[in-house]
Amino acid sequence: MPPSLWPVNRPNNWLFEPSLIAPRSIVAEAQEVQWAIELIELGARLQLLQEETHLSRERLLRLYREVAGHSPSKGMLPYSTDWFITWQPNIHASLFLGIYRYLEKNIDLPPLELLIKSYRLYLEQIAVGKEEKVLSVTRAWFLLRFCAAGMLQTAPCTRCNGEFVVHTHDLTADFVCGICAPPSRAGKTKKLFPKSVSSEPSP
Ligand SMILES: [Zn+2]
Repeated sequence: MPPSLWPVNRPNNWLFEPSLIAPRSIVAEAQEVQWAIELIELGARLQLLQEETHLSRERLLRLYREVAGHSPSKGMLPYSTDWFITWQPNIHASLFLGIYRYLEKNIDLPPLELLIKSYRLYLEQIAVGKEEKVLSVTRAWFLLRFCAAGMLQTAPCTRCNGEFVVHTHDLTADFVCGICAPPSRAGKTKKLFPKSVSSEPSP
């Protein structure tokens, strides 16, 4: 199925909008290479790197092989918004988005660094909770794009007040999250949501 989300005429980098003029200093380029390396180490798909850096596809491919030790996957990218609404992915996506928004509001970081830092904090948080990683860095990036495109947003849970990812047109007046109303056999994911990230407004 073609990726209908991306209109052909959309501008490049429509989420992060790095400089359209792109003055390519050596330092700026070195910084992008560094981010690309970190993202490859975190498991990013090639398209993310192509969209969010000014590095050529050839350079990215070489970089990818050098860092990952293999060629990038050619499989389908995760285009569906529905995945983010299913139970466990929703909890992980909401956790990541809470971290991202907190950092975005409180620290002035270049967009790619913000993505990398938020994702690393997400990984730390799930390691503390002894959870399996559910959200890949590419999915995290898609989540941000879906939010920027107005396809996904967050709504507060009426029980715990945490913010959770929902479809933009969902009715959320009585929304109860997947932690407060888990399916059977669930329970330990509560650890994932420290109060500071999920349920308090940022200072
Ligand atoms: Zn809740």
